[in-house]
Amino acid sequence: MTLLTGWGRTAPTPATLARPRSAAEAAALLTRAGRRGVVARGLGRSYGDAAQNAGGLVLDCTGLDSTGLDCTGLDSTQGDRTGGGPSWRLDPTGLVTASAGVSLHDLMTDLMPKGWFVPVTPGTRYVTVGGAVAADVHGKNHHVDSSFGAHVRSLRLLTADGTIHELTPDDELFWATVGGMGLTGVILEATFRCVPVETSRMVVDVERTRDLDQTLETMAETDHRYRYTVAWIDLLAGGRRMGRSVLTRGDHAAPADLPARMRRDRLAFGPRPRLAAPPWAPGGLLNRATVRAFNAAWYGKAAPAAGKRLIQGIAPFFHPLDGVAGWNRMYGSRGFVQYQFAVPFGAEDTLRRVVARLSGAGVVSFLTVLKRFGRGTPAMLSFPMPGWTLALDIPAAQSGLAGMLTELDEWVAAAGGRIYLAKDSRMSAAMMSATYPRLDEWREIRRRADPDGLFVSDLARRLRLL
Ligand SMILES: Cc1cc2nc3c(=O)[nH]c(=O)nc-3n(C[C@H](O)[C@H](O)[C@H](O)COP(=O)(O)OP(=O)(O)OC[C@H]3O[C@@H](n4cnc5c(N)ncnc54)[C@H](O)[C@@H]3O)c2cc1C
Repeated sequence: MTLLTGWGRTAPTPATLARPRSAAEAAALLTRAGRRGVVARGLGRSYGDAAQNAGGLVLDCTGLDSTGLDCTGLDSTQGDRTGGGPSWRLDPTGLVTASAGVSLHDLMTDLMPKGWFVPVTPGTRYVTVGGAVAADVHGKNHHVDSSFGAHVRSLRLLTADGTIHELTPDDELFWATVGGMGLTGVILEATFRCVPVETSRMVVDVERTRDLDQTLETMAETDHRYRYTVAWIDLLAGGRRMGRSVLTRGDHAAPADLPARMRRDRLAFGPRPRLAAPPWAPGGLLNRATVRAFNAAWYGKAAPAAGKRLIQGIAPFFHPLDGVAGWNRMYGSRGFVQYQFAVPFGAEDTLRRVVARLSGAGVVSFLTVLKRFGRGTPAMLSFPMPGWTLALDIPAAQSGLAGMLTELDEWVAAAGGRIYLAKDSRMSAAMMSATYPRLDEWREIRRRADPDGLFVSDLARRLRLL
C-alpha cells in the first residue's frame, strides 16, 4: 500500500501501486484487481484525485515499454528510442508513436534536435503521453491548435476484459478515452502529429495591461496574431487596477530571428531545474505579504520589456514552474487547490465577477493565468470550450475557501461554463452533471467497454461519474 496524492497534495489515499513494464503485465494485473478496481497513473501532475484509487489498485504507467510499438501508420523512421523502457518512433512527416509512459520532457529532449515539437504542451512538461490524452490537455496555443486529442491519429487501449483495441478518431471509444480520465482502460500507446520547428527558441512579445477590461480587450483583438498566448493576472491588485496583467505571447523563432551566437546551436534543448524547493516548507511561506511582493516584482519586471520583442527558450516560455523542482511543497503540509474554470465567450461579466470576488477576498494566489480557448475536440468529457479560462492556485488553508469556491461554481455553471477535471479536487457531483452535458453519452460508451466497472478512481467516486 502506498499513500498517493495529486500535485496539490490534498486528500492522500492508500492504494496498491504496481508498475507494469508491458501490455501483458498490465493485462495480468487487471485480472488481480479486487473489488475496489483499478486506475492508471502517469507522473501524478493532475492536481486532485484523478490518479488515485483508495483501497484499490493503481497502475504506474511510466515504465510501460512498447517493444511491440505498433507503427503501422508511420512512414520510414527518422528516429526512435526503443529497447526497453518507454519508447517512441518518429517518421519524416513528424508522426510519432510513443508508449503512454513517455514524458513530454523526454520527447522534447529527443525530438527538438530533429526539428520537431509536441503539438500541445501544458504548463509543465513532466506529464506522460497517457496523462496528456486522458485529460485532453491544452496549452497556450489552444486558440489556434485546440487540445492534445485533436492531434492524435490512433490509440492502443487495454480494456477491462484484457483486449487491446486499436482506436482511431472514427471510434466512439477513442473520444470517450480522450479526456476520459483513465476510466475507459489503460492507454498503452498514442500516435500523434508533431509540429516542425526551425529553432528551439521563441520570439516573445511582453505587454502590460492596467486592468481586467484592457486585458480582455487586448487579448480578444490581438491574440490571433500569435500561436501561443497567456495572461498572468495580479490577483492582489484591487480597485482601479483589478485584473492588471502581464501578457506573454509568442511564436517559434526562425533562424533569422536569432542573434548569430544562438544560430550555431539553433535546436539545442536541455533544460534542468535551476532551483529545488526545500523538502519541508513552513505553511505560511506563501502568504499575502510574500505574494504581494512577488506580484509587484513580476508586474514591475515586465515594464522594461513591455512593447519589446524578446528571444526566450522553450522552458522559460512554456514551463517556468519546472525551473523549481518540487515547488508544490512550498504551500506547506496542507497543500493547495487549483481552481480552473472555462466560460463561453459572451460571459465576460461572469469572469469579471469572479476576479472581483477573488481579488476582494484577498485570495493568495501567486499564479493566476487567463487564456482564450478556441474550438474544442469531439471528446465527450474534454474541458476546453470556445471562451475564456482562468486558473489559479490557492493554499488549502485559506479561510472560507470551500464556501467561496462553491459560490463561484454556481456562477460558472449559470454562465454555461465548467471546471477542469485534471485540476479539480473539490467540486460536487451535482456541479459535474450540470456542466458536462455529454456525461450520459460518455457513461453509455464507457459501460459497454467496462460493464463491471473495473476502472475507477477517487475522482470517479467523488463525482459519481460511473
Ligand atoms: C505546473 C502544472 C501546470 C499544468 N498546466 C496545465 C495546462 O496548461 N494545461 C492542461 O491541460 N493541464 C495542465 N496541467 C495538468 C496536467 O497536464 C494534467 O493533469 C495531465 O493529465 C498530467 O499528466 P500525468 O502524466 O501526470 O497524469 P496523472 O496526473 O498521473 O493522471 C492524470 C489522469 O490521466 C490518467 N492516465 C494517466 N496515464 C494513463 C494511461 N496510460 N492510461 C489511461 N489513463 C491514464 C489518470 O488515470 C488520471 O485520470 C498542469 C499541471 C501542473 C502540475
